[in-house]
Amino acid sequence: MATEEPMLRTDGLVKEFGNFAAIDGVDIAIQPGEFRSIIGPNGAGKTTMFNLISGALDATEGAVYFDGEDVTDLPPEERIRRGMGRSFQISNIFGGLTVRENVRLAVQSRMRDSYSFREALFKPTDRYDDINDETDRILGRIDLLDIAEEEAEALPYGDKRRLEIGVVLATEPELVLFDEPTAGMGPEETQETIDLIEEVLVEQTLILVEHDIELVMEISDMITVLNHGQVLAEGTPEEITDNEDVQDAYLGG
Ligand code: ADP
Repeated sequence: MATEEPMLRTDGLVKEFGNFAAIDGVDIAIQPGEFRSIIGPNGAGKTTMFNLISGALDATEGAVYFDGEDVTDLPPEERIRRGMGRSFQISNIFGGLTVRENVRLAVQSRMRDSYSFREALFKPTDRYDDINDETDRILGRIDLLDIAEEEAEALPYGDKRRLEIGVVLATEPELVLFDEPTAGMGPEETQETIDLIEEVLVEQTLILVEHDIELVMEISDMITVLNHGQVLAEGTPEEITDNEDVQDAYLGG
């Protein structure tokens, strides 16, 4: 049966540190629109896998395909330019700028690519209108229009996370990579963040690297379980819950 081209695919991916293979022959294929979580016990290779996908680390062997193209040798900036959303962390935000300025900067950096020099020169007003409209649209979606003029630094934690999602959204990524987006949050904030991700990033393909299993079970379409740098199991949350190998790995096997 013909299937859609995966949004992201890895083929025989290996990452060695010295003689040690932290990622040891991983093949995954993530379909457009899918919410995939990568889980596994400590030391399983989750962070290494994340860094290989984003380009922060070079693969020792194997390949990474994004949207059907081989991006294995491309640096992170080029992967971002092609539509791989950066993982978001508080550090994506400029604390001294307002909420609006933060979103506007991200919108501007994307739109710059889509305007030719000639257009920018001859239609400057239209261009600024477009940027302002898009900025307002995103502020509306993340529900921060009311406090758009406040300094990012002064926001409560939850609103900072909203702003981060806005900054990610402003770059219009097809694929968004999350590295433990709810780390350090209490249960209520965790739930709010997940609700927001699900509400705002509906059109995107998402990859989440996470150790909080309950969270992963709640939000994932599909889960890949890594152990000792290899895929131990892959399936829906229900399939993973029932998998004995996975239970053993987590119980110290
Ligand atoms: P996880 O995120 O699942 O906890 P990591 O990807 O961080 O796992 O690490 C997988 C394995 O690779 C661990 O044994 C870790 O010690 C090792 N490792 C990770 N990064 C490096 C590095 N830069 N140099 C040497 N070993 C590393």
